[in-house]
Amino acid sequence: MMCLAAACREGPHSSSVATRPSPTVSTPAAVAHDDHSYSNPNEIRVRHADLDWDVLFDRKILCGRATLTLERPPAGHATRLVLDTRDLDVEKVEASRDGSSWTDAPFSLAPPDKILGSALAITLAQDATRVRISYATRPQASGLQWLDPPQTAGRKDLFLFTQSEAIHGRSWIPLQDSPQVRITYRARVRTPKNLMAVMSANNDPKAAPDGDYEFEMPQPIPSYLIALAVGDVSFAPISPRAGIWAEPPIVGKAAREFADLEAMIRAAEELFGPYRWDRYDVLVLPPSFPFGGMENPRLTFATPTVLAGDKSLVALVAHELAHSWAGNLVTNATWRDFWLNEGFTVYLERRIVERVFGQRRAEMEAVLGLQDLEKEIAALPDRDEILHADLRGRDPDDGFTDVPYEKGALFLCHLEQAFGREIFDRFLRGYFDHFAFQSITTEDFLRYLHANLLDSNPRPAARVPVEEWVEEPGIPAGAPRPTSEAFARVEAEVTRWLERKVPASGLSASGWSTQEWLHFLRALPPSLGHEKMDELDSAFHLTDSGNSEISNQWLLRAIAHRYEPAYPRLEQFLTSMGRRKFLKPLYEELVKTPDGKNRALAIYRTARPTYHPIAVATVDKIVGWPG
Ligand SMILES: [Zn+2]
Repeated sequence: MMCLAAACREGPHSSSVATRPSPTVSTPAAVAHDDHSYSNPNEIRVRHADLDWDVLFDRKILCGRATLTLERPPAGHATRLVLDTRDLDVEKVEASRDGSSWTDAPFSLAPPDKILGSALAITLAQDATRVRISYATRPQASGLQWLDPPQTAGRKDLFLFTQSEAIHGRSWIPLQDSPQVRITYRARVRTPKNLMAVMSANNDPKAAPDGDYEFEMPQPIPSYLIALAVGDVSFAPISPRAGIWAEPPIVGKAAREFADLEAMIRAAEELFGPYRWDRYDVLVLPPSFPFGGMENPRLTFATPTVLAGDKSLVALVAHELAHSWAGNLVTNATWRDFWLNEGFTVYLERRIVERVFGQRRAEMEAVLGLQDLEKEIAALPDRDEILHADLRGRDPDDGFTDVPYEKGALFLCHLEQAFGREIFDRFLRGYFDHFAFQSITTEDFLRYLHANLLDSNPRPAARVPVEEWVEEPGIPAGAPRPTSEAFARVEAEVTRWLERKVPASGLSASGWSTQEWLHFLRALPPSLGHEKMDELDSAFHLTDSGNSEISNQWLLRAIAHRYEPAYPRLEQFLTSMGRRKFLKPLYEELVKTPDGKNRALAIYRTARPTYHPIAVATVDKIVGWPG
């Protein structure tokens, strides 16, 4: 359905945001080939966007316009600008030389590709410097989730949030949706009067909801980091530059859980250089958010499933904070290079955890990470085990496995081990300074690695098979193997219990952290028997655990053992949150048997309308929806 864009534009605020010249940004000279964008930044590059929307909850659409500031290379005279879109209704396109007088620009929208969406080709005069697109999104936009009140924590207001990574930004903004194109933006957003709007930009902690908001993001960012949320959220400060946005019923709990935010920022700064984004706030979203966190600059989006009550799952925030260096400051140029974002970030995350919460905790998390990686690699085809992934013809969301995260981090651990922490830290800090606010390919990284670390230290360099790490499947033979003394003690308890030397109630588990519990549950043999499941549950009430990670691990076992006392909790867990990390393994375990598959379909029928489109796409495939 076409939106009457003019109607929502002609309100009292129609003059809206003025365009302005974009700042100068240094970028690598070459434009990388991006399999996931139709855009042509080698001919014309978007430098800045002025965005202006009405948020129409009743129609589940954004309606407004995007004004893009353009730049051509020296001596470039391209007259065709190609943008990425998906499911957008484009009403009108205009172009301008100076930003004051506008003329209609001819445009065409190509037939949609299932993965990439539709190329929007605009014909411009050689000297046009701005283009203005009046458009509306559609209710099924893959990057927008519109929540009804029952899907929120407060249960009384509507909520909207965006998720642009990997290529969902194009479903709500017509842009060059390739991570190598960095832009600054300003935005004006009109919402229902009682709701607050926040963006990956300069949010004002003192702002009161009035239904009309302006934002500015002065640092150039890739399109997948543009983010918006609208809902009944309030703010709780942690420090002068950090705080929590969340729905009123959970903002206090979230602020207590993330009380170490400032300590984490300081730890990261000591290790990797200054935090360059001014504020660092965390928005705790309603439970349908499909990811653990999303590193939207200045405003991390986080799942409420990490609010464990004991700070045991805050590594997630360390991870999103670490993206302020790895990913947001130095960005993968294409989704093939995704490991540059995530492998570096997992490595940094563990360094932050070590500083703030101690070596013991960081070691445990590294061991759990390696377990995840080995389990995943056992099930993946060779081509999906390669860091420098080939994602041609595929949705880049298919590349979100443990490989870019944990294998990438293990590669960096190997470099640290070979060169020593002092030298490697100096290298990392130089890397972030050198490529700050740039998007780079794997080849750019490898060139820098050779020039600044490997070539001048040939002896340790010979111990790290860089080519094998980056271009081959599997884990190289000499890879580091993280170990944990705490976990060795847990394993000893597993043995004592399995050998019936002690009942479950006699295990010395009273001081165990979440990580030790996870290791305990993973270390149990695949077939435990109903009686042992019962014994554990009676001793430790695992079915009733409110810790999402422990619940996930326990429920996986419960499904495998057809342990019926846990079924009501399983159903409750799967219908109360939409985090893909938990949905995927639990539904996969369920569909292994015919009656499990029936159970999966019955639960999914209720849960599906509450999940995010990204989670729906994943679970549809697993359960074979519509059944
Ligand atoms: Zn990440």
